[in-house]
Amino acid sequence: MKPFFSCVLLFACATTGHAATDYTGDSIEGVKVIRKLDLADLDAGKIHRFYLQGASNGVGQHWLVPVLVAKGSKPGKRLGLQAGVHGDELNGTRLIHRVFENLDPKTLSGSVIAIIGANSTGLLANSRYYQLQHDSGGGVDFNRIWPGKAEGNAAEQQVHRIFNGIWAGNADSVIDLHTQSTGTAYPLYIYADYRVAGVKTLAELFPADIIKIDPGEPGAAEQAFNDAGMASITLEIGAAKLYQPELIARALVGVDNVLKAYGMLPGKLGRDAKAQRSFIGNQTQSIRADRGGFAEVLVALNQDVKAGQLLAVQRNGFGDIIARYTAPFDARVASVGTDPLREPGSLLVRLIRVNTDAACSDGC
Ligand SMILES: [Zn+2]
Repeated sequence: MKPFFSCVLLFACATTGHAATDYTGDSIEGVKVIRKLDLADLDAGKIHRFYLQGASNGVGQHWLVPVLVAKGSKPGKRLGLQAGVHGDELNGTRLIHRVFENLDPKTLSGSVIAIIGANSTGLLANSRYYQLQHDSGGGVDFNRIWPGKAEGNAAEQQVHRIFNGIWAGNADSVIDLHTQSTGTAYPLYIYADYRVAGVKTLAELFPADIIKIDPGEPGAAEQAFNDAGMASITLEIGAAKLYQPELIARALVGVDNVLKAYGMLPGKLGRDAKAQRSFIGNQTQSIRADRGGFAEVLVALNQDVKAGQLLAVQRNGFGDIIARYTAPFDARVASVGTDPLREPGSLLVRLIRVNTDAACSDGC
């Protein structure tokens, strides 16, 4: 029996190839758990649900990361959407749900893959940080360790499993969905490395308020995708711990434009960066509190400000003004602090402008 069994296995290996979807054999409430996805295995013209087996935790259980795959009835490009790398940034989860509510795999060419909640522990802790329990614990910024490590700490292993188990080999382009951090807000804002093929086009398909031409951030998911040949942008949708329908709706128009521009869906493109008159800048400057106190931000998102204009004041507990913060140059307001409690180093206002200096041409 033994030789025969080996032959069956060899035959299976020879016919399915080595990159087949790797099922753990577990099923949670009817959803199969996988270690690795291979799009080529899946039935076309259908939406598939999986749990990716994430890193294991201190009680010996694996985190389970929800994965949605719409495999079109015809071949085409493969677009990825990823939400919840920072666990307090939630608008992207609703964007993905809305994309899949609208998607008919029978009319789709190619595939859309989505990860809803990459940072399992950060989501539960309302935090951008993956929560480590070992030794005295601590947090790891989950968007500075991509593409992860097979034998790293729990956070690095979770990233490695997502990057290699879902994205590598399955996507041509991945949009990483974020918001500004808790206590601060963005409008609809994009980080895009215009040096990378396909990224300028991808960014400008969105009717964003602001696009930041940016040289990337080592360890960020966006940069790991770009380095691996999957054109990527970071799409910042507003503020943390909220669903913001207007911003989500506008992000949805952008995703729909991408699907049409990539030839994955038929139809005319909707509103894009040009129609929205998106502000495309290459230099940002963060105005941060230089002391602790109650901050009142005096400007709004997307507002144009002049050099010397008062942006924020800070008061002590008795109401005395203890600091005034002004704009260093003419710019547009890209982000604001929304939490009045500002300790030293906290963001008050982030400005963006176009700097024509050659040193800033790729972003600074
Ligand atoms: Zn983020």
